[in-house]
Amino acid sequence: MTYQNYTLEQLQQIDAAHHLHPFTDHKDLRDAGSRVITHAKGPFIYDAAGNEILDGMAGLWCVAIGYGRDELADAAYAQMKELPYYNSFFRCSTPTPILLSQKLAEIAPSNMNQVFYGSSGSEANDTALRLVRWYWALEGKPRKNRVISRHMAYHGSTITGASLGGMQGMHDQLGGAVPNIAHVMMPYAYELAQPGESDHDFGLRAARAVEDEILRVGADNVAAFIGEPIQGAGGVKIPPASYWPEIQRICRQYDVLLMLDEVITGYGRTGDWFAAQSMGIEADTITTAKALTSGYQPLSALFVSDRVAATIVEKGGEFYHGYTYSGHPVACAVALKNIEIIEREGMIERVRDETGPYLAKALKERIEGHDLVGEVRSFGFLGAIEIVRDKATRQRFQPGGSAAVLIRDHAIANGMMLRATGDTMILSPPLIWTKETIDMACDRIVKALDLAKEDLR
Ligand code: PLP
Repeated sequence: MTYQNYTLEQLQQIDAAHHLHPFTDHKDLRDAGSRVITHAKGPFIYDAAGNEILDGMAGLWCVAIGYGRDELADAAYAQMKELPYYNSFFRCSTPTPILLSQKLAEIAPSNMNQVFYGSSGSEANDTALRLVRWYWALEGKPRKNRVISRHMAYHGSTITGASLGGMQGMHDQLGGAVPNIAHVMMPYAYELAQPGESDHDFGLRAARAVEDEILRVGADNVAAFIGEPIQGAGGVKIPPASYWPEIQRICRQYDVLLMLDEVITGYGRTGDWFAAQSMGIEADTITTAKALTSGYQPLSALFVSDRVAATIVEKGGEFYHGYTYSGHPVACAVALKNIEIIEREGMIERVRDETGPYLAKALKERIEGHDLVGEVRSFGFLGAIEIVRDKATRQRFQPGGSAAVLIRDHAIANGMMLRATGDTMILSPPLIWTKETIDMACDRIVKALDLAKEDLR
């Protein structure tokens, strides 16, 4: 029986009765009823009430090539018929992860030639943490096992992901995080730069918070620094250009590994395959997922640098770690096809040279002047809109986050899917957006801002 045999109300009732959702207040959900998305095509999603919504979030930062691509469905179907599953444990392999690994090594930064697969970004970060700690143990430095992260970082939702992340609400619910992980300030100039402090100086100061922590606990005790090139779920916080070079200098000086989390930024969003390339960062591990398959299948790939891989391979013996679905043949077949489409259609070049700059200009010219907007910023196809009560003083509406939720709800009601983190509206479109789609999005965002302004009078 298919869902078409049910009314929307029936689906909502069943959902409320049996389905626990991620990041959801279930009392709220039961009062409001879930929004049931039934199908999607290109840049649009459609809900069971018949609404067409422009998806400004690419699903959850993942649907890079847009919805309804038959080629991905065909790749999955063909692979399922030939070999739906076999594992890659115990010296077995299957063709699609082999070929995907070769392709990933080709597009990755040149010091990255090995990948480890999982099904989610959280799993990949779990693997990354295990790998860097194991690396230092194999190098004869088992005490070099602390990791430095940032406030408001998001690295996933398993206990490791939440512990690496810097979301206070998540830590409050953990009942004990993974030990030896510290969090320092984030490079968020809009709220944290001091009056008169230049972006450049602020970027250096934010990076030196990492150095301070290394000096506080001793470099012999610090395994790695982990960071998203641009903090995504934490509010699309784009660091000043001075930040990452200084982080790199600090990591090199104290021999601290650099773990990049590119679960959001990977596979084209910043106008290169990886933000490491856009920002000139040389990392020791890079976590990726999401746009690797454009969300059509669950798959993550953790890139491991030649330096780390050499130690693991030469000195490590068996690494007691892996997932049933590591290197899943169907997910890897879909990833291969997805990457082929991104390349064939020149999506990354378009974001870098044409649509990314157009989005930046549109946000500046059409959104930043609005009375409720304190700042817009973007990098490639990641954008943020800061919501304020007062542009000059940057004072926010109270309670915190309430205005952004209001704007988000108006946006959705007017056919525009946006997300809010605190007082920041977030935009992460599929890479297929054209200039016309960007114009349509801006029209709808302005409308949502105008409606919210009326409500907030
Ligand atoms: N890392 C980053 C930067 C993310 O944004 C996310 C998810 O949004 C994750 C890790 C976790 O990925 P997953 O939800 O697939 O476990």
